[in-house]
Amino acid sequence: MTKFITQLSYSVRTVFILTMVLTLAIILYQFSNNLSRLTNEHNNDNTNVKFQYFIDNDNAMSFEQIRENIHQFKHVKGSEIPFALKDQTYWLIVSIENVQENQKPYVLYVDNKLLDVFNVYRMVNETSIEKIISVPSLLNQAYPHIDIDMSTKRKQAFLVQLRTDGPPNMPIQLIQKTAFTQHVLFAQLLYGAFIGVILLMALYNFVLYFAVKDKVYLLYIGYLISAFFIMSSITGFGYFMFNIALNQLIDKYLVILHFLLVFFLLSFTLFFLRYERSKGLWYRITMLSCGILMVLAVFSLTLDQIQQATLFFAIQPAVLLLALTLLLKQINTNFSWAKYYLASWVPLIIGAAIQPAVLLNFINYSFLTSNAFLIAMILEVSFMAFALAERMKRNEQDKIENIAYHLSSGIPRKSNIEGAINTLALNKSRDFSVIIIKPEHIEKVTLYINDDMNTALFKRLYKKLSSLFNYNDAVVPLTDKNEKLCLINNTSLAFILDNTINEQPLETLVQSIQQIVFENFHLTNLQLPLGAVIGISTHPSHGNKSHQLLNRALIATKNAENSVEKWAQYADNANDTTNYLFKLSNDLKQAIEHDTLALYHQPQVDLRTLRVCSSECLLRWQHPEEGFIPPSIFVPIAEDMGLIHELTFWVIKKALTQQKYLMDTHGFNHLVSINISGKDICSKGFLAKTLAIIESCDVATDKIIFELTESASFTDNDFAMHVIEQLTELGITISIDDFGTGYSSMSQISHLPFQELKVDREFVENINQDKKRLVIAEATVKMAKGLGLEVVAEGINSEQDEETLRQFGCDIGQGYYYAKPMSLEEYEQWLLSLVNGRVKQPLDGEYIPAAK
Ligand code: C2E
Ligand code: MG
Ligand code: MG
Repeated sequence: MTKFITQLSYSVRTVFILTMVLTLAIILYQFSNNLSRLTNEHNNDNTNVKFQYFIDNDNAMSFEQIRENIHQFKHVKGSEIPFALKDQTYWLIVSIENVQENQKPYVLYVDNKLLDVFNVYRMVNETSIEKIISVPSLLNQAYPHIDIDMSTKRKQAFLVQLRTDGPPNMPIQLIQKTAFTQHVLFAQLLYGAFIGVILLMALYNFVLYFAVKDKVYLLYIGYLISAFFIMSSITGFGYFMFNIALNQLIDKYLVILHFLLVFFLLSFTLFFLRYERSKGLWYRITMLSCGILMVLAVFSLTLDQIQQATLFFAIQPAVLLLALTLLLKQINTNFSWAKYYLASWVPLIIGAAIQPAVLLNFINYSFLTSNAFLIAMILEVSFMAFALAERMKRNEQDKIENIAYHLSSGIPRKSNIEGAINTLALNKSRDFSVIIIKPEHIEKVTLYINDDMNTALFKRLYKKLSSLFNYNDAVVPLTDKNEKLCLINNTSLAFILDNTINEQPLETLVQSIQQIVFENFHLTNLQLPLGAVIGISTHPSHGNKSHQLLNRALIATKNAENSVEKWAQYADNANDTTNYLFKLSNDLKQAIEHDTLALYHQPQVDLRTLRVCSSECLLRWQHPEEGFIPPSIFVPIAEDMGLIHELTFWVIKKALTQQKYLMDTHGFNHLVSINISGKDICSKGFLAKTLAIIESCDVATDKIIFELTESASFTDNDFAMHVIEQLTELGITISIDDFGTGYSSMSQISHLPFQELKVDREFVENINQDKKRLVIAEATVKMAKGLGLEVVAEGINSEQDEETLRQFGCDIGQGYYYAKPMSLEEYEQWLLSLVNGRVKQPLDGEYIPAAK
């Protein structure tokens, strides 16, 4: 049914368009038919007209002198009077013989709207010549003519004086009054159409300009306005539109307007065809030409009109040739609108060639030839509407492409898969799966690599997977270009599998994807092959909307992370986990805002003096319903949910306030160690905000240690490195936390601005019971010492642990052996209970103060 309606509306539309085109064609045919009838009427005449002419080259002869020279006038046909581009006066004798004693009224008409002198004298005989004074009227100005009464005599003669510094051709005709009236009507109709088209088009371009802010539309308006003024002057319709003064001004600067016209035409062509995008040779040549045109236009203000016109007509062909070259060069590119533009040029070029040829008296004058440019402009502007619409359409398509594809990688965006899912889901029982591919640990990895590297990795993966899916018909194309994969966020790709076609076991497909990811997604300098985590949701059982199926496939990837095979189908209870995560992060936000988190202190002890040298601040969260939640659970959630900065600032502020309290109240002068997340270091506002907090708490920076986990991976991140360097310069000690558990190696650390290294408690706890730990811990401490770093051992649980690490050269110890993390009050009491700040009585030997 819908198909039928679509088909029907398509047919109706076609019929409608065809009818419109047909109607327009009939109107045009009728119009041109009438035009030719009008032209014929001029010739179908019973009068005999003869012309004689005489040229006064320097406009110096008086009327008397002319009268004395009447016998020197040369006989000529009316259309062959040699009007030339010179400022001179033409004297004509028009002799009329009324063969059949025609009674109809006649008109002597000169079709040049820029006449400066038009005087007509009736020659009664050689001596008696009287001037005919015509009534000055608008019609007379726009169509210079004089009424001739044919009834009085069979034969009569007139002396006509003509002069102009405008277009030189002054076609003079004797026509019947009725034909003249018709001529005027047709001309008015044509001007009306012209003005209408120009105004509409200018308006259309204004709208386009305000819609898309593309200056090309302003240039076209400039072109239209220049054309409008030029035509108003040449055709004379300006007399009906403007006052005399403005009209005279336009006439005076007619050639300058021509310069403007070609300037706008050239610059419009340049930008319309998007040459500014490449800024190549042709762009520069055209820009230079536009500059030259403007200079010449200004220069020609110093010339008289005849010289101006000579200059203009000399350079016009070159300009048109340049514009045409620009056009032809672009015609073979994919700028389809260039073709319409070219089409619009065909009438323009024909009109532009005929018009000056008529004005300069190279081509015979007729209604059609004299208005050729006007008609050409109407056609050109109409074609241009198509070209502009086509260009607009392409702009829109470009925008859609930008929306549909990621700019940096060119990989289709999420919107593509959403569209495809929703289309497939129209069939309510269709069996298909949405499958998400996420490289393992990608969230952590992206923290440490730059965007370019991330893009390169995904592009490579996209290419490899695309070739895997290329010949698999069960994988559904997502775009018109048959692309089958898209990026749904910064870390995952997704595709649709049509289960009705798929013959392969899901497991086999998943494994081949994992193999491809394993082979292609690794970071060169970390040598870290990553597998893929894959999550699957299926229509219709897991939902029928794109967002449901995508979210559920994402939840499945979360579950897959903890599975052995690293892939999972969505299971209904997975939703509970997400809800739980949301609830927890929301509660955490509340806890930060209401200050219900607690900061505990775990002392760090100088292994040589056994004095407390600092304390590590550790977050504690007593959840009102869930009870105690360890930081190893909620800190990663804060990182994932975007709460980490708030949390860190809360910790810094709390830690420094407590530190200040301990210093001021008891005079303790040990340091305070604060855990900072990698996400903090990579964030823009971190440094400034931290400094502001330090300042407000009034704690010296050399009393502060920032502990960073996996800090060595910051090597690739210039921004993070810069922040770390600035913190170091300010006097803050930077410590590498949990050393040994991550990707960092000693050689990477060696050239980074860290001062302290914390050996993870994995290598410290019960060190003497495990040979492996012993070897690793010893090597780590010795190498770090060799690099001049201060070494802290976490997780010291016994005197043996302490002794062994001291022997290796470890500086500081931290662990349950000394104290568990304590609340501020407990910590304060604990500190006060120490004798001389020492956790135990001094060992034998010399007292060495803490190095810090
Ligand atoms: P971490 O920075 O490595 O902190 C040391 C952890 O080891 C603490 O666990 C501490 O209680 C525990 N510990 C210390 N000595 C011993 C010992 O002798 N034996 C054993 N078994 N454990 C010991 P906690 O407090 O659960 O913190 C876990 C992790 O949570 C911290 O590891 C740190 O990465 C993170 N964390 C804690 N507080 C913050 C914080 O304010 N900000 C950030 N970003 N992370 C924090
Ligand atoms: Mg720590
Ligand atoms: Mg640690």
